[in-house]
Amino acid sequence: MNSQHITLLTFGYFDKGLLEEVAGAVSREFNYPVICRDIHIDLSEFYDAGRRQYNGDKVLKTVVSKHDYDSIKTIGLLNIDLFIPILTYIFGQAQLGGSAGIASMYRLSNELYGLKHDVGLQKERFIKEVIHELGHAFGLLHCHDVVCVMRSGSYVEDIDQKSKDFCQNCRRMMESTVNPS
Ligand SMILES: [Zn+2]
Ligand SMILES: [Zn+2]
Repeated sequence: MNSQHITLLTFGYFDKGLLEEVAGAVSREFNYPVICRDIHIDLSEFYDAGRRQYNGDKVLKTVVSKHDYDSIKTIGLLNIDLFIPILTYIFGQAQLGGSAGIASMYRLSNELYGLKHDVGLQKERFIKEVIHELGHAFGLLHCHDVVCVMRSGSYVEDIDQKSKDFCQNCRRMMESTVNPS
């Protein structure tokens, strides 16, 4: 029954080792095989010259349109500064209970906040962000458990506080949407 997989759709260059780690973490957390696919698309169509950022709603729409039905969920991976009209920036977003989400590395790097470059930390944050957005795509809402990956966060410090795992409650909810009895 688990012939379906989760697709990681990469926009632009991603380090292979990093992708393997993200794929491994996603596969462990959701219990689905994970496949990676590149998408070759001109990102300038999402660029908002006034804000000097990329429109997250348009990127998400594109990921939705590229979702293929062999895949249970598709998440777009990016390394650009994303916004949505009501927020200054976003780390990512997803359709609640839908087919797709997006997550960007861009705001997760230490340098952006005047701190020392830390590849490992940026990778940890990215993995949490990808799992968080996929959680939304699987229908999960934000959670108040301090270390649950579904806790909402506006700052990288919030991401650093939580783990990359679901709390028991979220896990139970996730499993009941995947395997409704
Ligand atoms: Zn969220
Ligand atoms: Zn939770």
